Order: sequence, then C-alpha cells, then structure tokens
Amino acid sequence: MAQVQVNNVTVSQGVRMLFSLMTPNESSFATVQEVPKYVNQATPYFSGLILLEIVLGWLKTDGPRIKINDFITSLSAGMMSRLPQLVMRSLELSAYIYVWNNFRLLELPWDSAWTWWLAFLGVDMGYYWFHRFAHELNILWAAHQVHHSSEYYNLSTALRQSVTQQFSSWAFYLPLALMVPPSVFAVHVQFNLLYQFWIHTELVKDLGPLEWILNTPSHHRVHHGRNPYCIDKNYAGILIIWDRMFGTFAPESDKVVYGLTHPISTFQIWTVEFLYYPYLWQRFWEAEGISNKLSVIFKGPGWTPGKPRLGDIADIPQITGEEMPHDPTWSPAMQAYVLVQFLLLLDVYNNLLKDQTILSEMTALLLTGYVLLSLTSLGFLIDQRANAAEMEMLRCVLIMALQQFGYIKPLVPLLAFPIEAFVLIAAVYWSLQCVNQRINRMKKQN
Ligand SMILES: [Zn+2]
Ligand SMILES: [Zn+2]
Repeated sequence: MAQVQVNNVTVSQGVRMLFSLMTPNESSFATVQEVPKYVNQATPYFSGLILLEIVLGWLKTDGPRIKINDFITSLSAGMMSRLPQLVMRSLELSAYIYVWNNFRLLELPWDSAWTWWLAFLGVDMGYYWFHRFAHELNILWAAHQVHHSSEYYNLSTALRQSVTQQFSSWAFYLPLALMVPPSVFAVHVQFNLLYQFWIHTELVKDLGPLEWILNTPSHHRVHHGRNPYCIDKNYAGILIIWDRMFGTFAPESDKVVYGLTHPISTFQIWTVEFLYYPYLWQRFWEAEGISNKLSVIFKGPGWTPGKPRLGDIADIPQITGEEMPHDPTWSPAMQAYVLVQFLLLLDVYNNLLKDQTILSEMTALLLTGYVLLSLTSLGFLIDQRANAAEMEMLRCVLIMALQQFGYIKPLVPLLAFPIEAFVLIAAVYWSLQCVNQRINRMKKQN
C-alpha cells in the first residue's frame, strides 16, 4: 500500500519523530551527510499540532489561551534563531565532529542499536546539564531567558527560541564525541529537540505512570512557572529521571503562573532576544570589586551580594493568582492585518530555508534582511509604537519591489494578484497614516 508522505517523511514517521518514537533501524546512518534534516521535515507536523491546539482551545471553555501578539512573537523568535543556519553548520555539530576527528578514544559502530541507545541517553543527559547551567549561570541565562519570556503556555511557546543559545549548548555534548560517531549524535540531538515541542501544552493534564520516567507537559509547565515552587526545577529534555536523580524535580501542584519573574512586557523581537545582555553588562559595571563582578556573570540570575549562589527565593515577586499577562488592547482589524502579513512572511521564510543551497549569496542576504525587517516592523505594530506606520510603509514598498523582481513568489500562483493588491492597499494606507501623524504633530507644535 502506498504510504502518504508529507515533506519527504511518511505521516507515521513524522508523528513518531515528534514523540521520540523512532527506531534505531530507521534512523541509523553511516555519515553525517546522510542524516535527514528532521527538524525541517517536522515543520508541517508542528503546524498541524498548533492548529489542533487552537481548535481545541476554541471548543473548550477552559482551553489554552492563545493570543496573536504572543503567538507571533514566539514564532518570530523561532524564525530568528534559525537564521544563522543559512551561513553555517550548527556549532553543536561542528564542535562535535572536531572532537571526534581529533580526540576520540574508541569508535562505537554506527549501525549498532547499543550505540543508538547510548547516544539517546547521552544526548538527553547532556541536554539536562546544559539546561541546568543555562538557568544557573547568568551569562547563559541571558540567552535562555528568551524561551521563558512568554506569559502563556502553548505549543507556540516551544518555538520561542534564543538566537545566542547555540553558542553555549555545544560544549555539553562533547564527552559523547569521545566514542559515539557524529552521524548518531546528529540524529539524537534533533530528536531531543523535537520531543520538547509537544510538552508545551496545557491540554494534556496527567499521563499516569509515564510521569515517572518521561518529561511531560505537566513537568514542563512547572519548569515555565514563576511561582516560588517552580524556580530552577525540571530541566529534563526527554527523560525526567535526571531531575529525580540530581535533585531538581518538582511535581505540578499550585496553578502555574508562566513567564519570567520580572515580565518584559514587549513583543518587539530584538528586545525579546537581546534585552538581557545590556542589563547584564550594566550589572557587571555596577558591581563592586572583581569577585562581585565575576559573581554577576557566573552565579544565578537571582544572585545579589551576600546571597546564596542561586539567590534567595524570598526575593522574587510573590504570586497572588491575579497575575494577568501583558496584553494591551488592539483592534481586531489590526490583529487580522498583522496575522496575514505574518503568514505571507512565513511563506517567504520557508522558501528561503528550503532553497538555501540553490540561492545566490546576494539573494539569500537580501531575503534574510527582508525577514529581519519584517519581524521588526510587525513587532513595532504589535507594540503599537509611534514610528510603526513609517516602518511598515517602507516594508510594503520593499515587498512590492521584491515581488516585481521575482524574489518573492506566492505559495499558489493564483494568489499572486490578490497578494499584490493587498500589499499595495497596505502601502497606501500606511502612507496616509504617516501623513496624518505628521499633520497632527505640526498641529501640536503650533
Ligand atoms: Zn529553561
Ligand atoms: Zn520550554
């Protein structure tokens, strides 16, 4: 019987990939070059599950809360975090291959199920320690806090990833490179990441005995909480056993309030991604003496002079249960506009990743610039900034130029004309908004 394929994998494989249910037989390869890009192949399955969660959210009165502003910000962070891949192989894999080539102690066979399972455990434990350090060292937290900055908890939160995290995570997998071939590692590092997608949901409550062994939505909800009992808990990737073994496990009890202890209250993607670095820099300069300066960098984000390494849990803001996520009102028409523009952008972005090997450097650079400008402009619109109209007008003009010269093509040719008309009307609308704002400003000055 013919098997249905979506994005080069059978539906069965696509679904099993997301739950780490692949077998050694179907996912063992001799060389790194043969290893499929599982994460890219999984995109349609991500989208499918996100849609399912949205539909179930509508149907259930106590279903998950999904807001367009937060949703787009999470997806924007995910998009931004994958852009460096256009110019380089992931640091995790490059560093791993380097150590394997130069320092390996033994060569486990790539086609043995034992090697496969050892890599499964090794990658998962490596992830546990990376994740724990990412919360316990302020300099690593600067990158990882991006993932925790949403005050909602749904599947889109899983995609809210940091651009800079990849510069530290690679180090934690290197012990494996002393014996496990890179092709086996390249499979498991992807499966580990993919597994962590589905656990970002409030729809799955309790999985019974599985809660003992696996990282589940319930355990990971605790990890995303800012209630005192949630802080620095449940670092697991796939197996929760590491938290149980190393003393960082906490079961879900009180209703979890999600997000950072001090919410950032913005949807501007550059702020979400990089805000913590200038803050860290400022704290570094303000700290007195070299010992305090080093502590600011290498102790926990909650540390202050005279406090324990990870800070004092009594210092974090109390949870009242009345906390409301940052969600300024904006018109339904503007929400629809931003959503449509974002979906159009998503199409360009997908094509860019898909065609990266056949695009010229200039074209890839131009489209990357367009994606970044778009994420910025849509973030300005969501944040309702004063200069949002000017930036969006410029962006619409740029889209028209890119369409004109064939750099942007719609998913379906039939949509070309309606999209062009939509962008033209948007450009006129934003121009009028700019004129209007200028007149108002002049009136005020007079
Ligand atoms: Zn975390
Ligand atoms: Zn998470």
